[in-house]
Amino acid sequence: MTLTAGVVAVQGDVSEHADAIRRAADAHDEDVVVHEIRDAGIVPDCDLLLLPGGESTTISRLLRDEGIDEEIRQHVADGKPLLATCAGLIVSSTDAKDDRVATLDLLDVTVDRNAFGRQKDSFEAPLDVDGLDEPFPAVFIRAPLIDEVGDDVEVLAEWDGKPVAVQQGPVIGTSFHPELTPDVRIHRLAFFKESAEPLAR
Ligand code: GLN
Repeated sequence: MTLTAGVVAVQGDVSEHADAIRRAADAHDEDVVVHEIRDAGIVPDCDLLLLPGGESTTISRLLRDEGIDEEIRQHVADGKPLLATCAGLIVSSTDAKDDRVATLDLLDVTVDRNAFGRQKDSFEAPLDVDGLDEPFPAVFIRAPLIDEVGDDVEVLAEWDGKPVAVQQGPVIGTSFHPELTPDVRIHRLAFFKESAEPLAR
């Protein structure tokens, strides 16, 4: 069976994520077709979904205008995996502390949009992530800080005592950009777990 993946392509590192998904699938001997999502009607066919970084205010507005927001909610309600990175995490949260962001309420976390960015625009750090044997080279770019986490949210990684990777059911959110290194273990974790069984099946 060939898996269908979708990368929301209103903004962000779309081709990098698409490549990472293909390589992650390859590592698990899975065939995957990756679609770029700019319009409604594609998400319902996707087994797995990726919401990239960018600018959360813009992304959330476009998702709402196009009606893609409801499709993403349904995807998650159906138990299918979603990886949301950086601005994608902000959009997936329950509270972005910014009225301009229409949150999808998929991850019960409160985020501070540019918290890391104010300290330092961008940096790379080796990160211990639950489920990975070796540290992950995490690239943070104007990254959001997760400052409150609901009971149903599992913290997968922390930086400086704050959560930077979280999971709630089929949704994984990261403050950092896993697509900017050749390491595809976060994509593997989100979509294929440790085993060869994709979550999407
Ligand atoms: N700080 C940005 C926002 O608020 C996110 C930055 C990023 O995705 N690299 O949307």
